[in-house]
Amino acid sequence: MRAVLLLLIALLLAGCEKTPTGRSQLTLVPEPLMTDLGQDSFARMRRQLPVASDPAMTARVQCVTREVIQAARAEYPEADWPDAWEVVVFAEPSPNAFALPGGRIGVHSGLLRVAETPAQLAAVIGHEIAHVLADHGNERLTQQLGIKAVLLVVGLFSDGDVPREPLLRALGIGAQLGIALPFSRTHEEEADLMGLAIMARAGFDPRESVALWRNMAAAGGSQPPEFLSTHPAHASRIARLEAAMASAERRFRQAAPADCAG
Ligand SMILES: [Zn+2]
Repeated sequence: MRAVLLLLIALLLAGCEKTPTGRSQLTLVPEPLMTDLGQDSFARMRRQLPVASDPAMTARVQCVTREVIQAARAEYPEADWPDAWEVVVFAEPSPNAFALPGGRIGVHSGLLRVAETPAQLAAVIGHEIAHVLADHGNERLTQQLGIKAVLLVVGLFSDGDVPREPLLRALGIGAQLGIALPFSRTHEEEADLMGLAIMARAGFDPRESVALWRNMAAAGGSQPPEFLSTHPAHASRIARLEAAMASAERRFRQAAPADCAG
């Protein structure tokens, strides 16, 4: 019993991390498993959703993503970086975007109607990349599983070769669990602020983030997009961005302007 307790304490200590903004978080699900879950979900979406056929639109999204990732690496070099990032534009009318553990980013073509400028698109992509860098998916899944997350760690890394599939089934984890659920408000706020710093550093005018949320509010819609999923009221979201705007504008003035308008 004592050995089990010591093991639990060791696991909890190992899972206690800090996000890039310095917030403490508990992430107990093994990272390779998070990456697998993200890749499985992305592969399923690619089978189910049509990919956008407009090459100019895809090129614009890829340009913004490239610039934003480069800036994020400079801004948060200590974060846990995926091996590679991949972005796909899906032909879907809802104004949405998402990023999965392992660095898979999906953008709906409908987002391009609401994010009117490359800088507004950069605000969304920066926000999504921030969710990945701050390991929000793992934190959320850990909260949701509770003690099961610890069992998962023990099961996957115990000496006996525990087959993964039956274990995941026993714990009630499908490939999509922890991926499709909305983020908490804390996560949304952290992703907003990290995203603002990232877009500014990439050379996109940070004030465009406020314009984006105004457009989002105007677009409305019954299905809230991922990045509005726990919808802190637009006004409070904008107020928090405004509070961080001075430092974002300093970053922006020091950055070379990004050019993804083409
Ligand atoms: Zn979000």
